[in-house]
Amino acid sequence: MLTRLICTVLSFIGISTGIFQINQSSEDVLRCWLSFGRNDGVYAEVKTSEKVIALTFDDGPHPKLTNRILDILDKYDAKATFFVIGKNAELYPQIIKRIADSGHEIGNHTYSHLAETNSNSEKLKTEILKTEDIIFKITGTKTSLFRPPTGYCSKSAVQMTKDLSYKTIVWNIDTKDWAHRNKTEIIKEIKNRADNGSIILFHDFIAYNSDTPEILSQILPFLKSKGYSFITVSEMLSLEEIL
Ligand SMILES: [Zn+2]
Repeated sequence: MLTRLICTVLSFIGISTGIFQINQSSEDVLRCWLSFGRNDGVYAEVKTSEKVIALTFDDGPHPKLTNRILDILDKYDAKATFFVIGKNAELYPQIIKRIADSGHEIGNHTYSHLAETNSNSEKLKTEILKTEDIIFKITGTKTSLFRPPTGYCSKSAVQMTKDLSYKTIVWNIDTKDWAHRNKTEIIKEIKNRADNGSIILFHDFIAYNSDTPEILSQILPFLKSKGYSFITVSEMLSLEEIL
């Protein structure tokens, strides 16, 4: 009885607000890292025998957090890739400049964090091109890397980004740092799972306090002691081998 009541209430909310309607088009929205591969221009890791790792940071730049992360990366001579939101890049161009001037790479994460789950590929294309332009105006460099917000993609979105000569970069280690997971667990997981060619997902724009700087301060010296170096996604892609 109770179950039926809950179902009725949920279906009423779902119908009246559309919250259960994930995709507004008729196209399936899929988990990028599981449903697409290199032929689609989608990479969740790089196949290499070199001891290299790509650290990636999404959603910034943030006026404080990004600078703290950049300081830690400098300390350990680590290069990373920042998938920035166009709107935030417009607000903090001096941080975008610092990222680029420090030898890190900048990728495109749409203008407003537009997820494919509530969009269509034409709208997504507009946001990607707008952000591309913002990044170019600040750094003088055109990025060719795209990270889909939430990591979900439709077939048409993947084709569209490929047609724009972008590579879609997802990840094989998701720290879920944005969800304020227990930092000890995150550190343990990274230490256990990091491997040649890993792409690790962090965020440099998080609501409330972020443990990400502290997590980095622990995993960077540990992984360096294991022989790993930290390079940009594009540098790592150039090391891809057919193993
Ligand atoms: Zn994001």
